[in-house]
Amino acid sequence: MTRDPLAENRVLRHRLEELMTQARHNERKMRRFQAQELKLIGLNSLFELIETILYPDRSAFDWDLVTLWLLDTEYEIRRALEEEGVDLKAHPSLMFARDRDDLDSLYPISLFPTLGAYKGKIHETLFPKSLGTPGSVALLPLVRHGKLFGSLNVGSFYSERFVRGFRTDFLEHLAAVVSICLENAVNLERIKRLGLTDTLTAINNRRYFDQRLTEEVGHSMRNAQPLSCLLLDIDHFKNVNDSYGHQTGDEVLREVAALSRAQLRSSDVLSRYGGEEFAALLVHTNTEKALEVAERVRETIEGYRFCGPGGAGFRVTLSIGTATFDPGSDRAGLGIRGEHLLGYADKALYEAKAGGRNCVICAGNISVAAEECM
Ligand code: GH3
Ligand code: MG
Ligand code: MG
Repeated sequence: MTRDPLAENRVLRHRLEELMTQARHNERKMRRFQAQELKLIGLNSLFELIETILYPDRSAFDWDLVTLWLLDTEYEIRRALEEEGVDLKAHPSLMFARDRDDLDSLYPISLFPTLGAYKGKIHETLFPKSLGTPGSVALLPLVRHGKLFGSLNVGSFYSERFVRGFRTDFLEHLAAVVSICLENAVNLERIKRLGLTDTLTAINNRRYFDQRLTEEVGHSMRNAQPLSCLLLDIDHFKNVNDSYGHQTGDEVLREVAALSRAQLRSSDVLSRYGGEEFAALLVHTNTEKALEVAERVRETIEGYRFCGPGGAGFRVTLSIGTATFDPGSDRAGLGIRGEHLLGYADKALYEAKAGGRNCVICAGNISVAAEECM
């Protein structure tokens, strides 16, 4: 057969053009992935990050569905998001695995992206019905330090979009960046939480209380809603330490914190303010209601049987001082500040101690003399 150099040249040119087209296509794809990854790396808040992962730019990614399935056994991620004011129900594509086994069963062989046709049995938990059923899916494992902690799931209504054998290097890279960013954001939330949490009792610490006090006084003034403050101090706590040891003392602090917390609404703030002293902020709560709550807390502690070494039972009591700032009352001063509210509650607590302990003294609606407001 004679060789036709011209025909051969045409074939080679055609091949070269195909390769060039492919290279340009890959370059555009790489840029799209890079832009998304750079965006993820630049974000600070956990929710911004999750939003950017779940709702990527439609013009850059022809993905019909994106969902995230995260391991959150300690409820840490959900708590952080809820505290940011996120309504989790509004994001059905953000889901949480019940336990590690559920997640592991998604990637039984290797921790690499899995592409292929949608299979109801395996994939229905990853793609809520309300969002539509994909024809093909790409599941990207989220891994840090060799451990699987989530799955980023992409779906297309087109059944040939994600097929087995497709190259997955861009997806793998994206999954690695998403994993690092998520780990980092969760760690940051953890550090923030630790900085505002009392390590012994796991309720908030004084720093958090002081921040919230300022915020809530402002909120109370703007919305003309009463705000009450409770200061709670364990009576003769030194005797508990002396009689049963420091460890039992620590356990009493933990239990008093948990028992008191259980008597408050989730919107109320309870913090460990000092050694055996707790402070609570009751939003939208007037004097009468604050007194009622304080009595309930006092009675709960009085009626509880604490347990010492060797099973010895003993009782502990609380003295409580309450004060209320009510912008609607005629005693309210415009220049009221958090420290005034705390100061009045402290005076009331002092009276409760002087009056024999195990009681609640209510300072009522507070007023601030004009000179104090300067
Ligand atoms: P009062 O009724 O006047 O409040 O008497 P009290 O004994 O409760 O108060 P006092 O201020 O005399 O003593 C408080 C004690 O609380 C002393 C301190 O050792 C103890 N305490 C403070 N922080 C902790 C803690 O983290 N763990 C334990 N076990 N004890 C603590
Ligand atoms: Mg005390
Ligand atoms: Mg004290």
